[in-house]
Amino acid sequence: MAAALALTILFVVLLAAVIRLAVNESRLAGEPAEGVIWFSSQGQYEAMRLADTVLMFEADRVSRDEVALRFDLLDSRIRLFEEGSMTERVTSMGYQDEIAVVRSLVERQRQPLATLQANDTAAVSSLHYDAQTISHIMRDFANAGMLDGRERQEIVRNNRRQILLEILGYLLATLAAGVVVAIIVVRGYRSIAQAEAALAHEKEVSRLHRAFTSVVSHQFRTPLSIIDASSQRMLRRGAAMSVDEMTTRVTKIRNACQRLTRLMESTLNAARLEQGEITFHSRPCDLHVLIASICDNQPEDDQSRIRRSLERLPRWAMADVTLLEHALQNLVSNALKYSPADAPVTIRGWLRGSDLVISVEDLGVGIPADEIDFISERFFRARTAEGIPGTGIGLNFVSQIVKLHSGRLDVESEQGKGSTFTLIFPYKPAQRLAAAAQPAD
Ligand code: ADP
Repeated sequence: MAAALALTILFVVLLAAVIRLAVNESRLAGEPAEGVIWFSSQGQYEAMRLADTVLMFEADRVSRDEVALRFDLLDSRIRLFEEGSMTERVTSMGYQDEIAVVRSLVERQRQPLATLQANDTAAVSSLHYDAQTISHIMRDFANAGMLDGRERQEIVRNNRRQILLEILGYLLATLAAGVVVAIIVVRGYRSIAQAEAALAHEKEVSRLHRAFTSVVSHQFRTPLSIIDASSQRMLRRGAAMSVDEMTTRVTKIRNACQRLTRLMESTLNAARLEQGEITFHSRPCDLHVLIASICDNQPEDDQSRIRRSLERLPRWAMADVTLLEHALQNLVSNALKYSPADAPVTIRGWLRGSDLVISVEDLGVGIPADEIDFISERFFRARTAEGIPGTGIGLNFVSQIVKLHSGRLDVESEQGKGSTFTLIFPYKPAQRLAAAAQPAD
């Protein structure tokens, strides 16, 4: 509605401007005053020459024909004056009677001129007098024309000024309407873009939700059936079960429970991250203690596979301890999971320039070269992970965590040979415990 209104205003203003320009154009194009001045001057000149010629005729210095020629020239000039639009202009200046006087003077002298004699003093004087009178009237016309011209110029100047102001007004109105239209159009585009972004987000969320449901339901089934099978066996065997067998069964149940817990944790973290519930709290962190506790938290059988090379890693640094622990725990358990049961896993730490670097290296299944770029995508699992339990959520979370630390996750891997996952983020020495921020022995 508003856009249509603004466009209508724009159109009306432009139309009005065009009409006003056309009207003003005709208003400016008036009769020039120069015409009256020029014709009057010509008449005055011829009348003066006639008066002079009459005097010369009286003194016998020119013939009557010369006087007649001058008279005819004056007559033709006055006729020209009468035939053009000059009469109208002069009449509008208030000289209507004078035009008639000029004509009557000319006509009065036409007859006597045919028989004019130099010694006929009365006729010569009359002609001389009338010629001078015509000359004076013509001079008055010229003067009036000049004054009228000035007045008209003043009017034209005022008109021009007014037209300029009008055009300026129309331009401003056009500009304002144009700005309104532009704002409306831009707003429209913006809301369309927002709606499209919201739709894309919705689609992505629903795609993730579907992928998540399928992965999680699949991954839940295995530990649940292990728990179920072991419990059934224990029920059936009852008191006949040996302590060793009981220990094996219970250990299986516990491992399955741990797996379920991890699954729940990563699922919850993914949801919390999605809803922006995970916030970053940087505080002093004892990196060496953190890494030691991660190693201790791995399944007992795997702990002996872990090697540590942390000599060049500062002990204290600013970091979000909980998130960093989660990221490293993920990398270490992946390294153990995706490599043979007897293959070593090495955790290294050092300073590179102003960055803190912590890497986890394994000699496991590796990742196909064409899949490395997608490894941090949510729910993505490489071909080499087939048959190994997992959800594809963990690495995505790790890369989000390292981003919160203003850093990045590097992945180097070769299929069948192993992988190295490296956390790199700016090193911020822990202020509170700065004295302790030395590389450990
Ligand atoms: P998952 O629960 O599947 O292990 P992650 O997000 O932790 O999920 O890892 C995503 C995928 O990256 C894994 O499915 C696997 O294909 C690959 N991957 C992660 N760590 C390793 C590793 N150390 N060695 C080989 N492949 C790995």
